[in-house]
Amino acid sequence: MKSFLVTGGAGSIGSYVCEYLIAGGHQVTALDNGPSLKVEHLFDSGRFKFVQDSVLVKDVVERLVDQNDVVIHLAAIADPKRYVNEPLNVLNVNLKGSLGLLDRCSRQGKRFVFASTSEVLGKNPHVPWKEDADRLLGPPNINRWCYSTGKALIEHYCYAYGQQEELPFVIMRFFNVYGPRCDDLGQGRVIPIFLEKFLKGQPVVVHGDGSQTRCFTYIEDTAQAVVDLALSDKALGMCFNIGSDRETSILELAQAMKKAGGFSNELIYQTHLEVFGKSYEDIPRRIPDVSRIKDVIGWQATTSLEDGLKKTIDFYRPIVRSGA
Ligand code: UDP
Repeated sequence: MKSFLVTGGAGSIGSYVCEYLIAGGHQVTALDNGPSLKVEHLFDSGRFKFVQDSVLVKDVVERLVDQNDVVIHLAAIADPKRYVNEPLNVLNVNLKGSLGLLDRCSRQGKRFVFASTSEVLGKNPHVPWKEDADRLLGPPNINRWCYSTGKALIEHYCYAYGQQEELPFVIMRFFNVYGPRCDDLGQGRVIPIFLEKFLKGQPVVVHGDGSQTRCFTYIEDTAQAVVDLALSDKALGMCFNIGSDRETSILELAQAMKKAGGFSNELIYQTHLEVFGKSYEDIPRRIPDVSRIKDVIGWQATTSLEDGLKKTIDFYRPIVRSGA
């Protein structure tokens, strides 16, 4: 049995990570500034603690790092609308929060498992992306890139602490995670945004012509990869793509959701400029090369988009029906 600190542990991915760790017999403390709704079911285990606080609070972070063997750092602001509207909050939480944790983990020799993002590679057109592919971003006056830059800087810090201070670390890059318990409907990423419209019978807004692609990765597959990597000694010092490698355009996604939920909503189109203004740039294609994680720990995404969408829709449908 090991003890884990999971920052963002009451969030979408975090709640599944905590659940799988508890099921594996481990001790878990979730640190989250949000409510404990998604992890209430774990309290009965007797091996789960919840601390409602921010990763920016130094003494809390230090105490919790000291009390645990491994830190899985998931807490972040990861919502494209917020990159554009609140770049200062995005940078502060993602940079300052991570630096505090890294510093303490390094001093105490604790394993640091960092949630980075496929976004670090920006708009590199040479898909599929291996972990060491080049980064291609727009300029810093385009707010969209603040998230990518912050996450990439923390990746640099992981390698630097690893090289100079012997920090044991693992970097994980997520690719468009979706599923039950994800963002509130209508917020965050494309799937919860589309789903709110589908469930409320309103037109679904496709940005651009909908030909831009993503690889949508089911949340339970993602959380399993996080836990497997956090427990693996072979993964130390490395970066891993965690994703499905099925490329889906946004238009195909809308159609797949229509089919999975039996919806008949109208699709309408708006340009990115109309939706986000000038401080946004879209990414045309985003596809991981997932050979490394398969080779090192034997993980691959197993949930099809169709099954994952069905489970997601089944989860959210009663919430909208009850008006919650
Ligand atoms: N998108 C869309 N309609 C929406 C929300 C998002 O067409 O209501 C598009 C968005 O412009 C992007 C893709 O869906 O091209 C994925 O966006 P998301 O916000 O999920 O995150 P990203 O993958 O860009 O980080």
